[in-house]
Amino acid sequence: MTIILKIQGLRKGAKQIRQAAAILRGGGIVVFPTETVYGIGADALNPDACRRIYSIKGRAGDNPLIVHVSSMEMAETVARIPERYFGTMRRIWPAPLTIIVKAKPIVPKVVTGGLDTIAIRMPDSEVALSLIRESGVPIAAPSANISSKPSSTRASHAIKYFYGKVDAIMDSGRSKFGLESTVIDLKKFTILRPGSYTVDQVQKAFGKRPKVTSQSRAISDSRSRPSSPGMKYRHYSPEKPIFLFTGDPRALPAASESFRGEFTFIGSRESCRAMRGTAKNSIALGSRRDPGRMASMLFDALIALDGMESRFAIIEQFKEEGIGLAMMNRIRKACAHKYFSDERGLSRRVREIS
Ligand code: AMP
Ligand code: MG
Repeated sequence: MTIILKIQGLRKGAKQIRQAAAILRGGGIVVFPTETVYGIGADALNPDACRRIYSIKGRAGDNPLIVHVSSMEMAETVARIPERYFGTMRRIWPAPLTIIVKAKPIVPKVVTGGLDTIAIRMPDSEVALSLIRESGVPIAAPSANISSKPSSTRASHAIKYFYGKVDAIMDSGRSKFGLESTVIDLKKFTILRPGSYTVDQVQKAFGKRPKVTSQSRAISDSRSRPSSPGMKYRHYSPEKPIFLFTGDPRALPAASESFRGEFTFIGSRESCRAMRGTAKNSIALGSRRDPGRMASMLFDALIALDGMESRFAIIEQFKEEGIGLAMMNRIRKACAHKYFSDERGLSRRVREIS
């Protein structure tokens, strides 16, 4: 049975947080909110509970979990944070930045996918922090979605994915960022997954610019080995095929004209306006002037897409700066390399899926 725990404000939610923490301590599985997306959590030191996360999500065993902590002291029980970065991490956290560092032997192999490193972060969400504090243990929690599907940014998404499969789902409304945390390998000072903490923020906090590989931008490069296990799996895919338009934005209505009435358009409010009359329907992410808002609505749109009446979807591309870098990583993966830049390209792409 799955219980739904609605949290309206921290003080009022104290009882629900105690209830969820007791479930976690008892080896149960709890979906909980963070500032990035909802997570599906278990006691990180309980290998059986963590194994259940993999099986509920359908997640590959070599794709490790992020461990969430509520204090630097708790972080040090599971991870070796290099001395030269310790002060910076204490300053940055809580934040949507996950670091890859050496794991301590106490961490079960199931959590790290057999690696000797661990992904660790302190979420910037009072509900999440209170839950971890109350549980008294670090919480392993990947994003709350069935593997290959878009991550949950609302409790209703998690309910759709996991009702009847987890012990509790906490509901505290829409996630603030709506995209997962940034994952950085501190040893190589390289971004493995762009996310809600921007490259500029990393540079400012650490005083040096991290490397961003084409792999982490999800630009295909089959020769290189993935540096993060998660990179090689299908991701964020709605059931409906979705195509990324890579041409001049002004050319999009003409490029999709012959499929008039067959597709849903996803894009900025301004672009949705330009596509009126060409697309069957559209999902506006927000104004172009507010990239943060558009990023926070992306998964919501990808999940809503499957309920829309249309054969396929077209999404526009965004500038790869600031939060746009993470947005384009998720979009490229959701499209699984189905790109087009003109009418002929779209016709060819549509034939491939028919
Ligand atoms: P999720 O928790 O679903 O947001 O995904 C966590 C991401 O962090 C995945 O892409 C993992 O592959 C990555 N990750 C977790 N642990 C490690 C690690 N030790 N080394 C490299 N990447 C990791
Ligand atoms: Mg995930």
